[in-house]
Amino acid sequence: MDEIVRNYVSGHLIPGGNITRCVDGRYLEKDAQGTLARPGGAFGYTEALLGLDNQNNWGRNPEFYFDALQKVLSKIQGTSICHFHSDEHSSIGCGHAAKAADPQYAPQYGVNPEAIKVLYTYALGKAKRDQGAICVYLKGAHREQAVLINDITSQTIAPQDPAEGLMYFVYDRKKDREIVELITGGLSEYIPELRFNEFWGMLSRQTEATLALLAAGLPQYEIRLEEGELIVRNMASQLLAEMAA
Ligand SMILES: [Zn+2]
Repeated sequence: MDEIVRNYVSGHLIPGGNITRCVDGRYLEKDAQGTLARPGGAFGYTEALLGLDNQNNWGRNPEFYFDALQKVLSKIQGTSICHFHSDEHSSIGCGHAAKAADPQYAPQYGVNPEAIKVLYTYALGKAKRDQGAICVYLKGAHREQAVLINDITSQTIAPQDPAEGLMYFVYDRKKDREIVELITGGLSEYIPELRFNEFWGMLSRQTEATLALLAAGLPQYEIRLEEGELIVRNMASQLLAEMAA
């Protein structure tokens, strides 16, 4: 498995960018080009803002956060378009949003599940009316074999290679953190209470919730460059080595 993943990553690093996509493995390589993979795509940022709103009783409505994010993204991305996704199977086809909208799992995300439903419906409406949102409808079934946590900021990883029958969850962690710093700065105009550490904490909590629910039991790999050399590390092996040391 480790060798397959290492070979896959070295052969499937592609240019990254500021436009978000989800960690979902069903994106085709052409749609992953020039993007940043993070749970829920741009929707994930508003999902975390709803978590903070819920936790701190800020009392703003879901639509407010989506509109504010659009304004901020227009400066960071050069386009105000919020990218998120659904699929062919369900009304909320993004697992990161669907689990948070489910009363059973919402506590893990720190959100009110009804507010997530309102937010997703609002985003879909904006996508339908071409008002600065794009919903990508992913095709096929989940067949992810591992989680790739990428800390190379200039590149992302194509999530699947249909010819090889390989598919992975991809999270561009370091690039995500960089963008969240920029987004926090931009959002402070609309949400003066927002602090980076609190925002990043909520985003990380929700990322962990989704990986625990949707990628349970899958091996996790961390990917980075060290003096130009590609490092692909199996986190379980790393943990065992540390315990043995
Ligand atoms: Zn998704």
